[in-house]
Amino acid sequence: MLKFFDAHTHVQFAAYASDFQEVIGRAYAHGVGMVNVGTQKDTSRRAVEVAHNYDGVYAAVGLHPIHTVKSYHDAQELGDNSDAKGFTSRGEDFDYDYYKQLALDSKVVAIGECGFDFFRQEQGANREAQIERQKEAFIKQIELSREVKKPLMIHCREAFSDLISVLKANPHNLKPGIIHFFSGTKEDAKQLLDMGFYFTFGGVITFTRDYDDVIKIIPLDRILSETDAPYVTPVPHRGKRNEPLYVIEVVKKLAEIKNVSEEKMRVQILRNSEQVFNIQF
Ligand SMILES: [Zn+2]
Repeated sequence: MLKFFDAHTHVQFAAYASDFQEVIGRAYAHGVGMVNVGTQKDTSRRAVEVAHNYDGVYAAVGLHPIHTVKSYHDAQELGDNSDAKGFTSRGEDFDYDYYKQLALDSKVVAIGECGFDFFRQEQGANREAQIERQKEAFIKQIELSREVKKPLMIHCREAFSDLISVLKANPHNLKPGIIHFFSGTKEDAKQLLDMGFYFTFGGVITFTRDYDDVIKIIPLDRILSETDAPYVTPVPHRGKRNEPLYVIEVVKKLAEIKNVSEEKMRVQILRNSEQVFNIQF
């Protein structure tokens, strides 16, 4: 029986190569289910493989905007052997057929993470060209989500006006998906709510008050919890590697900000997760 849900995490990353079974086991012992989110070909395929070994563990498959341009490399994500480095240094073109094969799998519940990232751009490279590449990959993933009828898992950093205009110009699903770790303005939130999007928040809300105002205006039935592990570990675990178990701290903080009981918040998030991902716990 699931009690909590981590809607966006990365236990399939290299950071957990030696102990992902223990990490998932700890989450399980506390009733925490999860979606492991792919960021390029290897991490997407691996997310599907891991999902097949456990109940309550699902996958999202897609191409993260930072992996559309060359040279971005994170050892926690991809490992630090030279094969992994060589792979990302090229920058990936979105391979529709490859991702469609994965997306049709029954354990895949979303397409992404996809979207825009104008924060981590290549120094010295042509900014317009990079934005164009991100946009191209994003539009193809919107098409894929429409074709396989699965929601989008969107990553967006410092690019909300571009994101909203692309979403408006490209028809998507009735249940469009999730804005993961929403960092836009209240106005951005209102527009995305009108379009039917859900929002996830993670560990950062436990150590800054910067997101409280926007969380207050998002209806309870549109909020989900995430860890984005191995990144942004919540209080009181700061300094340690993050993991899905710690989503419980995020749910507690969301309850406090929304001024509802922890139990009400917990149950509502489970229902919201079932709704947006079309799954039943
Ligand atoms: Zn992520």
